[in-house]
Amino acid sequence: MFDIDSTRLANPFFTDEHQQWRQQLRRFVSREILPHVNDWDEACALPGDLWGRAADVGLLQLGYPEEYGGVPADIFHVIVAAEELARCGAGGVYASLMVHGIALPPLVHYASEALKEAVIPPVLRGKRHIALAVTEPGGGSDVANLKCRARRSGDEFIVTGEKTFITGGMRADWFTTAVRTGDDGFGGISLLLIPANAPGVHRQQLDRKQGWWCSDTATIFFDEVRVPASNLIGEENQGFLPIVHNFNQERLGIAASCIEFSRVCLQEAIEWAQERETFGKRLASHQVIRHKFAQMLQRINTTQAYLDLCAWQEQQGQLKVTDVALLKVQATETLEYCAREAMQVIGGASYMRGSRTERIYREVRVNAIGGGSEEILRDLASRQMGI
Ligand SMILES: Cc1cc2nc3c(=O)[nH]c(=O)nc-3n(C[C@H](O)[C@H](O)[C@H](O)COP(=O)(O)OP(=O)(O)OC[C@H]3O[C@@H](n4cnc5c(N)ncnc54)[C@H](O)[C@@H]3O)c2cc1C
Repeated sequence: MFDIDSTRLANPFFTDEHQQWRQQLRRFVSREILPHVNDWDEACALPGDLWGRAADVGLLQLGYPEEYGGVPADIFHVIVAAEELARCGAGGVYASLMVHGIALPPLVHYASEALKEAVIPPVLRGKRHIALAVTEPGGGSDVANLKCRARRSGDEFIVTGEKTFITGGMRADWFTTAVRTGDDGFGGISLLLIPANAPGVHRQQLDRKQGWWCSDTATIFFDEVRVPASNLIGEENQGFLPIVHNFNQERLGIAASCIEFSRVCLQEAIEWAQERETFGKRLASHQVIRHKFAQMLQRINTTQAYLDLCAWQEQQGQLKVTDVALLKVQATETLEYCAREAMQVIGGASYMRGSRTERIYREVRVNAIGGGSEEILRDLASRQMGI
């Protein structure tokens, strides 16, 4: 087996604690996830007790306030978690298991004490589930233009509209939902916690996805759903801020996953090329093939260095929107390149289901589109540059 860790850049910001966390998670992923992930992906479902087991090692609680059951952590612990989960080579595991990472932070930072106490502890214990519902059939990139309407009626909001592509939407007990409470534009958006069992909530599984098979993805319909006004997260018509608040951490996590998926592709391609013989010698002995590995590693390490510096800047409270946007683009382009090159090296066998590379190749685009698409992030970066 090729030791891919020997190619890893040392992270100057890591302490012994980060390394121990990596080892702990590596054991968890090797024991609880890797042996089963193919079956889960083919079955298009994760086992219900996975959340509880992830909570047992402290994964779900990472970085959340201790008073709600969280475990203290910094951004590098979060990055290690994204990397180690990506080693299983199935993006649906991280997407579903850690979806509270996008749905819960708005509550942590903006919700009332009562909502926090009711929702955060059971989610962090893996007993209950929460999903983020922003995207609509009419569009996902242009959040300021969303249409799902919540009108005020006394102490309640009455919600009507549709959300789609919602990760964890079938399993969720609550939806952190972006709704229109005011005028057009981002100044008319609020965030509302909608219980999934409220009358008028319907959901439909979206199967037949290109990848992320083990992650459930749903369309959610709200038909005159009555929600207590106390479920508002933050101020009315001020919902845009809680939505964007978590973008840095989400994008750093996606970048870390993409880099690790790229490493998995590099590892599988090297292992194949060391065994396979073509034209009388090992595939890895052909210079054209060896160069592919060098070029993959060059891009992986460049992206890793960018990630490490961005994470350090985030820790200092200095991370620029331009950098985190371009980092995510850099990471998805690196993944696209490495997945393509690994498939090419492995050849026809890479086209057959069952390898991590085959799955990662199918999951490239969801990383490049979700969490801020490449076009949207480049545009954001260029606007931040004052162009
Ligand atoms: C598997 C999966 C899981 C998801 N999970 C969730 C979830 O949990 N919660 C949630 O809310 N959403 C989720 N999404 C939705 C995701 O965030 C959106 O797909 C994404 O924001 C893009 O929105 P869209 O698909 O509507 O594309 P659109 O916004 O319609 O854009 C289509 C294309 O046009 C490009 N484009 C758009 N506007 C411009 C412009 N001004 N200039 C140049 N190019 C532009 C985009 O980059 C994109 O390539 C998920 C999506 C998938 C596929």
